Amino acid sequence: MSDQCLFCGIVTGTIPSVNVAEDDTTYAFMDINPASDGHLLVVPKQHSQDLLEIPAEDLTAVTLAAQRIARTAVKEFGAAGVNLLNCCGAYAWQTVFHFHLHVIPRYVDKTKDR
Ligand code: 5GP
Ligand code: ZN
Repeated sequence: MSDQCLFCGIVTGTIPSVNVAEDDTTYAFMDINPASDGHLLVVPKQHSQDLLEIPAEDLTAVTLAAQRIARTAVKEFGAAGVNLLNCCGAYAWQTVFHFHLHVIPRYVDKTKDR
């Protein structure tokens, strides 16, 4: 937990977010600037800066949570495919330094892209 971290604030509820799914170690919420309908972020509740730092157990839990959400997007919300994305480091476009996976549903209907 870092007092300065935006996503730690979201995990603890200090900063509002749209909760999609949650378990003991992970939290999933809607991205504020979505690339498509249903674009969301999955984070570990425990703060890790990035892919290089996150412990294996948290990486596994976040990845499995992202897989559950991707399956739901395809089976229940009509997604034709899903992009799973992580940016690690500022030079790889990471802007929030609390590890997160983007889950970006993709559709046959391109008007669902933003
Ligand atoms: P990155 O560029 O680090 O891979 O992704 C950061 C993501 O966090 C971006 O897609 C951005 O839209 C999202 N984001 C930034 N600030 C907030 C916020 O306050 N709330 C939510 N829900 N998403 C945010
Ligand atoms: Zn954090």
